[in-house]
Amino acid sequence: MAYSDTRRRMFAESIDAIKEKGLYKEKRFIWSPQDAEIEVEYPEGASHEKVLNFCANNYLGLSSHPEVIKAAHDGLEERGYGMSSVRFICGTQDIHRDLQDKVSAFLGMEDTLLFPSCMDANAGVFEAILEAEDVIIADRLIHASLVDGIRLCSAEYDTFKHMDMKHLRKKLELHQDKRHRLIVTDGVFSMDGDLCPLDEMCDLAEEYDAMILVDDSHASGFIGKTGRGVHEHFGIMDKVDLITTTFGKALGGASGGCVSGRKELVELCRQKARPYLFSNSLSPVIVAATIRVIDILSKTTERRDKLEENTKRFRKGITEAGLNVREGVTPIVPVMLYNAKLANDMSRDMYAEGIYVIGFFFPVVPAGAARIRVQLSAAHENEHIDKCVAAFKKVGEKYGILGLDKKGIVEKYGM
Ligand SMILES: *Cc1c(COP(=O)(O)O)cnc(C)c1O
Repeated sequence: MAYSDTRRRMFAESIDAIKEKGLYKEKRFIWSPQDAEIEVEYPEGASHEKVLNFCANNYLGLSSHPEVIKAAHDGLEERGYGMSSVRFICGTQDIHRDLQDKVSAFLGMEDTLLFPSCMDANAGVFEAILEAEDVIIADRLIHASLVDGIRLCSAEYDTFKHMDMKHLRKKLELHQDKRHRLIVTDGVFSMDGDLCPLDEMCDLAEEYDAMILVDDSHASGFIGKTGRGVHEHFGIMDKVDLITTTFGKALGGASGGCVSGRKELVELCRQKARPYLFSNSLSPVIVAATIRVIDILSKTTERRDKLEENTKRFRKGITEAGLNVREGVTPIVPVMLYNAKLANDMSRDMYAEGIYVIGFFFPVVPAGAARIRVQLSAAHENEHIDKCVAAFKKVGEKYGILGLDKKGIVEKYGM
C-alpha cells in the first residue's frame, strides 16, 4: 500500500507538531442557524449550550433574516439549485447579470464580476490585469487571500509598513519607472478593526500615478453613511479603481464574492481570471438571496445604523468595565490580552458565562499581541451586549486585569 504506516506516521507527526506549538484548531459545531443566539457543541461530543455569538461576521444580522431566506427559496424554485457549469459556458443566468448590476450600483462602480468567493476574486484579479513590467505595493497586513493572489501574478511585489503613508510614498517614488503601480489594502483590517487611511492613499495614488485596489470584505454593507464601504466613509467613492468584497460576511453570509471597478479592468478579469474561468458559477439560491440583501440595504440604513449603535454601546461598556480595547469605530473590537494562554483561558471562561468569543494569537496575529476579538452585529439587542460586557467584567476580574494597560497585563502574564 502506497499510503504506508511510515507515511501515515510522518503526517501524524506534522499534526503533533501543530499541537505542540499550541496552534491546533479544535472542532466546534453549531446546531442552529447563524444568529445572535446559537446552539454550540464544543468541545466535540460535549452537550449543546445556547450561547450569545460575538464572533461571527454576521454584521447586519442577515444570515438568517426571513426575507433573505424567502428570496433563497424563490431563487431555488424559479432558477434551480445548481448551474453545473462555469460562468462563460452555460453558468450565467439573467439573475447573475442582475446581481452584478446591483452590486455595481451599490458600490458606485462601473462594472462587477461575480466569483465563487472573495478568496477567488483575490486569486484572479492581479494576474488578470498586471504583468512583469508592473508593480503591486501592498500594506504589510493585507488578508492572506490577497497575498496568495499577488503570488500568482508576475508583477513585482513590494510592501509598505502597516498604514504608514510616509513609507507608501517612498515606495511609490521608488517604483516610478514601472508601467502600472497598484496600491493594495484591506478597507478594514479584520484583526485590529482599523480603517485604512483611504483618503490619504487616494491622494498619494493621484500624486504618483497609481491605481488602488481595496478589499472591503469587512466593510461592504455597513461602513459609510449608507453602508457602501470605506470609500463612502471617506467621501471618495469615485477615486477607487477596484474593490474586491465578499457576500459571505455582512451581505447575507452564505458565500460568493466579486471584483468591482473600472470597466476595462473588470472585462480583463472576465477574459482572464482563472477562478472565474475554471470554477463553478454561484448557485442561483445565493444569487437570488444576495440580490434581496442589496435591495434591502439600498432601501434602508436601519440595520447599519443599529450596528453602529450596538458598537458604541459595547465599546463604551467594555472600556468602562476596565478592559483594554483597541480604539476605533468599527464593529470589530479587539480586547487586548497580549498573552496567548490568557486569551485562550479567558475565552473558555467566557463560554462558560454563555458568551461565544475566540482568542486569537500567533500566527493569526503577531506574537505578543494575543487578544479576544469581539464582533458586534445588528442582530444583537441591548441586553445581549450588556450581558457580554458583564461577562468580560466578571472574567477579567478573575484574572486580575481590570484597569490594567498593556504594561500591567504583560508584567502579570508575559507576552
Ligand atoms: C473573509 C475575507 C476574504 C475571503 O472571503 P470569502 O468570500 O470567504 O472567500 C477575503 N478578504 C478579506 C479581507 C476577508 O476578510
